[in-house]
Amino acid sequence: MGLAKRKVCIIGGGVGGLTLALSLQQRGIPCRVFEKYDHFQHHRTGFLIWSYAIKILQELDVSVHEFGAPLEFFEVFGRKAQPISRMPIGAVSREHGAESYEMNRRSLMQAMSEMVGDDLQAGKSCVAVDSSDSGAQVTFEDGSVYEADVVIGCDGAHSVVRKWVQPAAQLNVFNAGGWIGVMDQHPAALKPNCHMDFWEPSIKAGVADIGNGQARWYVGMNGRVPDKSSPIKTQILDAVPVLPDVLQQCLDATPESEMVEVVGADLPPLDPWFKGRVLMLGDAAHATSPYAGMGACSAIADADCLAKLFSETDDWSHVFQAFQDERKPAADAIVKDSRKSLNLSTGRSLLKNWIRDWGLEHIPEKQMHQVVEDMVTGQ
Ligand SMILES: Cc1cc2nc3c(=O)[nH]c(=O)nc-3n(C[C@H](O)[C@H](O)[C@H](O)COP(=O)(O)OP(=O)(O)OC[C@H]3O[C@@H](n4cnc5c(N)ncnc54)[C@H](O)[C@@H]3O)c2cc1C
Repeated sequence: MGLAKRKVCIIGGGVGGLTLALSLQQRGIPCRVFEKYDHFQHHRTGFLIWSYAIKILQELDVSVHEFGAPLEFFEVFGRKAQPISRMPIGAVSREHGAESYEMNRRSLMQAMSEMVGDDLQAGKSCVAVDSSDSGAQVTFEDGSVYEADVVIGCDGAHSVVRKWVQPAAQLNVFNAGGWIGVMDQHPAALKPNCHMDFWEPSIKAGVADIGNGQARWYVGMNGRVPDKSSPIKTQILDAVPVLPDVLQQCLDATPESEMVEVVGADLPPLDPWFKGRVLMLGDAAHATSPYAGMGACSAIADADCLAKLFSETDDWSHVFQAFQDERKPAADAIVKDSRKSLNLSTGRSLLKNWIRDWGLEHIPEKQMHQVVEDMVTGQ
């Protein structure tokens, strides 16, 4: 039997699971997605999706422009909140065939869920998976069981599927964390189609235009995590050495109830990403800390790669191995880069920060082009 006649069961309707479902549907491969939540509140944040992943979404007819704004410049501010770099994201992205976008994640997830349609069932939380020679099985919290030919775990950093595939794997939880928010206003100090990133001692913060009159922002602390017993704004004001106007405007415009707490975590490199008829992708297989802003793009690239492989052969065990061989080097590199990015942007050494700021201010044009090219192409 060819895979075109098989049933692929996807656990998790986040960015990886929904991209996979749309990619399989486009190729005529039957699939079913089960998502834990029956609402989109857990997606009430924003993210930056680089050109290479935007291309994949556009090929699936996702109208990315409705849920975000093309990013023209990524502006970096140094240890004293002084401008040190203006990265030409828009120009370099267009050289590679698609804009990079700052996006409203909740709107994007809602639209992609609607596109997946009846193949998505929300409010179904997977509690266990199993695999035998004849098929794979998923058990849900409500006691129901679903049978499929293969199961793909796209259930994120706290994956239930991973507990079966790699029972010993543990998330590395950092002593670093913060908050993210989306506001229904465009702060006066933020230029359209811009992302402003602040690299101050122990702090990385950012604000970006996500279109439709909205902006997203975040504050990440290195060396401490959010304290639930204290007001968020007090913690932020206490942690940020030089508070930029634009960040103050975000704090003023976002109620604390809308601020989403985050603690940085990642996975050690796992091998294999599959067991029997069950495979993991995205954060389930290679969760990364958010500091390089690449995890969602990586999940999208995973989904695209897997759907292509499924359409080429009916041998799922070959597909699983080929998928891991193709995607693991890039995914593992992102996890490493993200850790480096945390240290580079939030370092506490006066000298190292001075050298970093000077280096970025004086980076030759050709080298800057290369840095940006690596980001927009996911290299
Ligand atoms: C603060 C922050 C900022 C980030 N910024 C960026 C960025 O700018 N660019 C970027 O590319 N990446 C960014 N990332 C990383 C990115 O968010 C993740 O890498 C990405 O969401 C992973 O996609 P995924 O589909 O694997 O998992 P998720 O997006 O986490 O989706 C998993 C889905 O599975 C569902 N689920 C979980 N458990 C179950 C279950 N038991 N049964 C059924 N369903 C289940 C969840 O509800 C969820 O919908 C950021 C991350 C954070 C925390």
